[in-house]
Amino acid sequence: MIILKIGGSILTNKDSVSEVDAASLKRIASEIKSSLDNSPKELIIVHGAGSFGHPPAKKYKIGEVFDKSEYPQKRIGFCETQNAVKKLNMLICEAFIEEGLPVVAIPASSFMTATNKRITQGNLDSFKRYLKKGFIPVIYGDVVLDDELEICVISGDQLIQYLAMNLNPDVVVLGTDVDGVYNKNPKTHDDAIFFDRFSSLDDLDTLEGTTNVDVTGGMVGKIKELLYLADLGIESKIINAEVEDNIFKVLENENVKGTVISRGN
Ligand code: ADP
Repeated sequence: MIILKIGGSILTNKDSVSEVDAASLKRIASEIKSSLDNSPKELIIVHGAGSFGHPPAKKYKIGEVFDKSEYPQKRIGFCETQNAVKKLNMLICEAFIEEGLPVVAIPASSFMTATNKRITQGNLDSFKRYLKKGFIPVIYGDVVLDDELEICVISGDQLIQYLAMNLNPDVVVLGTDVDGVYNKNPKTHDDAIFFDRFSSLDDLDTLEGTTNVDVTGGMVGKIKELLYLADLGIESKIINAEVEDNIFKVLENENVKGTVISRGN
Protein backbone atom coordinates (compact mmCIF):
# COMPACT_ATOMS: atom_id res chain seq x y z
CA MET A 1 0.00 0.00 0.00
CA ILE A 2 1.22 3.48 -0.91
CA ILE A 3 -0.04 6.69 0.65
CA LEU A 4 0.69 9.60 -1.65
CA LYS A 5 0.13 13.20 -0.71
CA ILE A 6 -0.01 15.85 -3.36
CA GLY A 7 0.55 19.30 -1.88
CA GLY A 8 -1.89 22.13 -2.36
CA SER A 9 1.09 24.11 -3.65
CA ILE A 10 1.23 21.89 -6.75
CA LEU A 11 -2.46 21.59 -7.47
CA THR A 12 -3.50 25.18 -6.94
CA ASN A 13 -2.12 28.58 -7.60
CA LYS A 14 -1.51 29.64 -4.00
CA ASP A 15 -1.13 33.33 -4.84
CA SER A 16 -4.63 33.64 -6.28
CA VAL A 17 -7.73 32.33 -4.56
CA SER A 18 -9.43 29.13 -5.77
CA GLU A 19 -7.54 28.53 -8.98
CA VAL A 20 -6.54 25.01 -9.90
CA ASP A 21 -3.27 24.34 -11.75
CA ALA A 22 -4.85 22.31 -14.55
CA ALA A 23 -1.58 21.42 -16.29
CA SER A 24 0.02 20.02 -13.12
CA LEU A 25 -3.14 18.17 -12.27
CA LYS A 26 -3.30 16.47 -15.65
CA ARG A 27 0.39 15.57 -15.62
CA ILE A 28 0.21 14.08 -12.13
CA ALA A 29 -2.95 12.13 -12.99
CA SER A 30 -1.25 10.67 -16.04
CA GLU A 31 1.91 9.75 -14.08
CA ILE A 32 -0.22 7.91 -11.51
CA LYS A 33 -2.16 6.15 -14.29
CA SER A 34 1.05 5.05 -16.04
CA SER A 35 2.37 3.59 -12.81
CA LEU A 36 -0.84 1.70 -12.05
CA ASP A 37 -0.90 0.37 -15.62
CA ASN A 38 2.68 -0.74 -15.17
CA SER A 39 2.06 -2.61 -11.92
CA PRO A 40 -1.11 -2.77 -9.83
CA LYS A 41 -0.84 -1.34 -6.33
CA GLU A 42 -3.06 -0.20 -3.49
CA LEU A 43 -3.00 3.58 -3.48
CA ILE A 44 -4.49 6.22 -1.20
CA ILE A 45 -4.27 9.84 -2.28
CA VAL A 46 -4.27 12.76 0.13
CA HIS A 47 -4.30 16.30 -1.14
CA GLY A 48 -3.88 19.69 0.46
CA ALA A 49 -6.35 22.56 0.49
CA GLY A 50 -4.07 25.06 -1.24
CA SER A 51 -5.56 28.37 -2.28
CA PHE A 52 -9.10 26.99 -1.89
CA GLY A 53 -9.14 26.18 1.81
CA HIS A 54 -6.63 28.45 3.47
CA PRO A 55 -8.25 31.88 2.83
CA PRO A 56 -11.68 31.11 4.40
CA ALA A 57 -10.05 29.15 7.24
CA LYS A 58 -7.87 32.16 7.95
CA LYS A 59 -10.67 34.69 7.52
CA TYR A 60 -12.88 32.96 10.10
CA LYS A 61 -9.92 32.00 12.33
CA ILE A 62 -11.02 28.37 12.33
CA GLY A 63 -9.25 26.49 15.10
CA GLU A 64 -8.91 29.50 17.44
CA VAL A 65 -10.80 29.69 20.72
CA PHE A 66 -13.95 31.81 20.37
CA ASP A 67 -16.82 33.18 22.40
CA LYS A 68 -20.22 31.41 22.26
CA SER A 69 -21.78 34.55 20.73
CA GLU A 70 -19.54 34.11 17.68
CA TYR A 71 -20.81 30.60 16.98
CA PRO A 72 -23.20 31.48 14.10
CA GLN A 73 -20.37 33.22 12.24
CA LYS A 74 -17.90 30.45 12.95
CA ARG A 75 -20.37 27.86 11.73
CA ILE A 76 -20.72 29.69 8.41
CA GLY A 77 -16.92 29.86 8.24
CA PHE A 78 -16.79 26.11 8.74
CA CYS A 79 -19.31 25.62 5.90
CA GLU A 80 -17.48 28.02 3.57
CA THR A 81 -14.19 26.24 4.17
CA GLN A 82 -15.71 22.79 3.80
CA ASN A 83 -17.36 23.82 0.55
CA ALA A 84 -14.17 25.41 -0.81
CA VAL A 85 -12.05 22.30 -0.26
CA LYS A 86 -14.85 20.11 -1.62
CA LYS A 87 -14.77 22.18 -4.84
CA LEU A 88 -11.02 21.62 -5.18
CA ASN A 89 -11.50 17.93 -4.51
CA MET A 90 -14.17 17.73 -7.20
CA LEU A 91 -11.87 19.33 -9.76
CA ILE A 92 -9.06 16.96 -8.79
CA CYS A 93 -11.31 13.88 -8.93
CA GLU A 94 -12.71 15.03 -12.27
CA ALA A 95 -9.22 15.24 -13.78
CA PHE A 96 -8.25 11.87 -12.29
CA ILE A 97 -11.38 10.11 -13.52
CA GLU A 98 -10.83 11.58 -17.00
CA GLU A 99 -7.43 9.92 -16.91
CA GLY A 100 -9.08 6.61 -16.01
CA LEU A 101 -8.22 6.58 -12.30
CA PRO A 102 -10.97 5.03 -10.10
CA VAL A 103 -10.90 7.69 -7.39
CA VAL A 104 -13.50 7.94 -4.66
CA ALA A 105 -13.63 10.95 -2.34
CA ILE A 106 -13.88 10.31 1.41
CA PRO A 107 -14.04 13.76 3.06
CA ALA A 108 -12.63 14.00 6.59
CA SER A 109 -15.49 16.34 7.65
CA SER A 110 -17.96 13.50 7.09
CA PHE A 111 -16.40 10.96 9.47
CA MET A 112 -13.49 12.29 11.50
CA THR A 113 -13.46 14.34 14.69
CA ALA A 114 -10.62 15.98 16.58
CA THR A 115 -9.64 17.03 20.07
CA ASN A 116 -7.55 20.21 20.23
CA LYS A 117 -6.81 20.06 16.49
CA ARG A 118 -5.63 16.43 16.53
CA ILE A 119 -7.71 13.71 14.89
CA THR A 120 -9.01 11.48 17.67
CA GLN A 121 -11.71 9.55 15.86
CA GLY A 122 -12.15 8.34 12.30
CA ASN A 123 -12.99 4.80 11.33
CA LEU A 124 -10.98 3.78 8.27
CA ASP A 125 -12.89 0.59 7.42
CA SER A 126 -14.36 2.17 4.29
CA PHE A 127 -10.83 2.94 3.07
CA LYS A 128 -9.95 -0.73 3.38
CA ARG A 129 -13.14 -1.83 1.64
CA TYR A 130 -12.67 0.59 -1.27
CA LEU A 131 -9.03 -0.47 -1.62
CA LYS A 132 -10.04 -4.12 -1.73
CA LYS A 133 -12.46 -3.36 -4.57
CA GLY A 134 -9.73 -1.62 -6.59
CA PHE A 135 -10.70 2.00 -5.89
CA ILE A 136 -8.31 4.81 -4.98
CA PRO A 137 -9.63 6.56 -1.85
CA VAL A 138 -9.00 10.31 -1.87
CA ILE A 139 -9.05 12.40 1.29
CA TYR A 140 -8.02 16.02 1.73
CA GLY A 141 -7.33 18.88 4.13
CA ASP A 142 -10.71 19.77 5.62
CA VAL A 143 -12.61 21.13 8.61
CA VAL A 144 -13.90 18.78 11.32
CA LEU A 145 -15.76 18.98 14.63
CA ASP A 146 -13.46 19.33 17.62
CA ASP A 147 -14.32 18.20 21.18
CA GLU A 148 -12.41 21.13 22.72
CA LEU A 149 -12.55 23.92 20.14
CA GLU A 150 -15.93 23.06 18.51
CA ILE A 151 -14.37 23.17 15.04
CA CYS A 152 -10.88 23.01 13.59
CA VAL A 153 -8.86 22.57 10.42
CA ILE A 154 -7.21 19.24 9.66
CA SER A 155 -4.29 19.50 7.24
CA GLY A 156 -3.50 16.99 4.52
CA ASP A 157 -0.24 16.45 6.39
CA GLN A 158 -2.01 15.46 9.60
CA LEU A 159 -4.21 13.12 7.55
CA ILE A 160 -1.07 11.45 6.20
CA GLN A 161 0.11 10.88 9.74
CA TYR A 162 -3.25 9.47 10.89
CA LEU A 163 -3.71 7.20 7.87
CA ALA A 164 -0.16 5.89 7.98
CA MET A 165 -0.34 5.24 11.71
CA ASN A 166 -3.56 3.27 11.32
CA LEU A 167 -3.10 1.55 7.97
CA ASN A 168 0.59 0.71 8.10
CA PRO A 169 1.45 1.39 4.44
CA ASP A 170 4.65 0.21 2.74
CA VAL A 171 5.45 3.65 1.35
CA VAL A 172 4.52 7.20 2.40
CA VAL A 173 5.34 9.95 -0.08
CA LEU A 174 4.67 13.67 0.02
CA GLY A 175 4.89 15.56 -3.24
CA THR A 176 5.45 19.29 -2.82
CA ASP A 177 6.98 22.17 -4.82
CA VAL A 178 10.56 21.90 -3.53
CA ASP A 179 13.02 18.99 -3.64
CA GLY A 180 12.61 18.22 0.07
CA VAL A 181 13.76 19.70 3.36
CA TYR A 182 16.50 22.33 3.55
CA ASN A 183 18.01 24.03 6.60
CA LYS A 184 15.98 27.11 5.59
CA ASN A 185 13.39 27.99 2.99
CA PRO A 186 15.02 27.36 -0.42
CA LYS A 187 12.54 29.72 -2.08
CA THR A 188 13.89 32.68 -0.17
CA HIS A 189 17.48 31.57 0.57
CA ASP A 190 19.85 30.73 -2.29
CA ASP A 191 22.33 29.24 0.18
CA ALA A 192 19.83 26.78 1.73
CA ILE A 193 21.40 23.36 2.34
CA PHE A 194 19.49 20.25 1.22
CA PHE A 195 19.00 17.23 3.51
CA ASP A 196 18.85 13.68 2.11
CA ARG A 197 17.65 12.56 5.51
CA PHE A 198 16.01 14.59 8.23
CA SER A 199 15.48 13.52 11.81
CA SER A 200 15.06 16.57 14.03
CA LEU A 201 13.54 20.04 13.83
CA ASP A 202 16.72 21.27 15.52
CA ASP A 203 18.38 21.03 12.11
CA LEU A 204 16.32 23.93 10.79
CA ASP A 205 17.92 27.39 10.96
CA THR A 206 14.60 29.16 10.58
CA LEU A 207 11.20 27.91 11.60
CA GLU A 208 9.30 30.27 9.38
CA GLY A 209 7.27 27.49 7.78
CA THR A 210 6.08 28.59 4.43
CA THR A 211 5.89 31.68 2.28
CA ASN A 212 2.14 32.04 2.00
CA VAL A 213 -1.17 31.77 3.84
CA ASP A 214 -1.21 28.34 5.40
CA VAL A 215 -2.92 28.02 8.76
CA THR A 216 -1.75 24.43 8.95
CA GLY A 217 1.95 25.13 9.29
CA GLY A 218 3.67 24.73 5.90
CA MET A 219 6.92 22.81 5.79
CA VAL A 220 7.42 22.82 9.53
CA GLY A 221 3.96 21.39 10.09
CA LYS A 222 4.69 18.75 7.49
CA ILE A 223 7.94 17.71 9.13
CA LYS A 224 6.34 17.55 12.59
CA GLU A 225 3.70 15.12 11.32
CA LEU A 226 6.32 12.99 9.61
CA LEU A 227 8.54 12.91 12.69
CA TYR A 228 5.60 11.44 14.64
CA LEU A 229 5.49 8.71 12.03
CA ALA A 230 9.24 8.22 12.18
CA ASP A 231 8.88 7.64 15.94
CA LEU A 232 6.54 4.76 15.10
CA GLY A 233 9.13 3.34 12.72
CA ILE A 234 7.34 4.52 9.56
CA GLU A 235 9.67 6.33 7.16
CA SER A 236 8.35 8.88 4.70
CA LYS A 237 9.82 10.84 1.83
CA ILE A 238 9.26 14.39 0.63
CA ILE A 239 9.83 14.85 -3.10
CA ASN A 240 9.31 17.53 -5.72
CA ALA A 241 6.08 16.74 -7.58
CA GLU A 242 6.71 19.62 -9.98
CA VAL A 243 9.57 17.69 -11.57
CA GLU A 244 8.20 15.64 -14.43
CA ASP A 245 8.11 11.87 -13.84
CA ASN A 246 8.98 12.14 -10.15
CA ILE A 247 5.56 10.86 -9.07
CA PHE A 248 5.72 8.04 -11.60
CA LYS A 249 9.22 7.05 -10.48
CA VAL A 250 8.46 7.16 -6.78
CA LEU A 251 5.36 4.99 -7.30
CA GLU A 252 7.57 2.56 -9.22
CA ASN A 253 10.04 2.50 -6.34
CA GLU A 254 12.69 4.13 -8.52
CA ASN A 255 15.22 6.50 -7.04
CA VAL A 256 14.03 10.12 -6.84
CA LYS A 257 15.75 13.07 -5.20
CA GLY A 258 14.03 13.86 -1.92
CA THR A 259 14.30 13.94 1.86
CA VAL A 260 13.65 10.81 3.88
CA ILE A 261 12.18 11.61 7.30
CA SER A 262 13.37 9.10 9.83
CA ARG A 263 14.64 9.06 13.42
CA GLY A 264 17.74 6.97 12.75
CA ASN A 265 20.71 7.83 10.52
P1 ADP B 1 2.29 21.85 0.15
O1 ADP B 1 1.21 22.83 -0.21
O2 ADP B 1 2.94 21.22 -1.03
O3 ADP B 1 1.90 20.88 1.19
P2 ADP B 1 3.60 24.03 1.60
O4 ADP B 1 3.48 25.25 0.72
O5 ADP B 1 2.72 23.96 2.80
O6 ADP B 1 3.50 22.69 0.76
O7 ADP B 1 5.11 23.87 2.08
C1 ADP B 1 6.12 23.81 1.10
C2 ADP B 1 6.86 25.12 1.12
O8 ADP B 1 7.57 25.22 2.35
C3 ADP B 1 7.92 25.27 0.05
O9 ADP B 1 7.40 25.85 -1.12
C4 ADP B 1 8.97 26.19 0.72
O10 ADP B 1 8.88 27.49 0.20
C5 ADP B 1 8.55 26.23 2.18
N1 ADP B 1 9.64 25.99 3.13
C6 ADP B 1 9.82 26.70 4.27
N2 ADP B 1 10.87 26.27 4.95
C7 ADP B 1 11.40 25.23 4.24
C8 ADP B 1 12.52 24.36 4.45
N3 ADP B 1 13.32 24.49 5.52
N4 ADP B 1 12.76 23.39 3.53
C9 ADP B 1 11.96 23.26 2.44
N5 ADP B 1 10.88 24.05 2.19
C10 ADP B 1 10.60 25.04 3.07
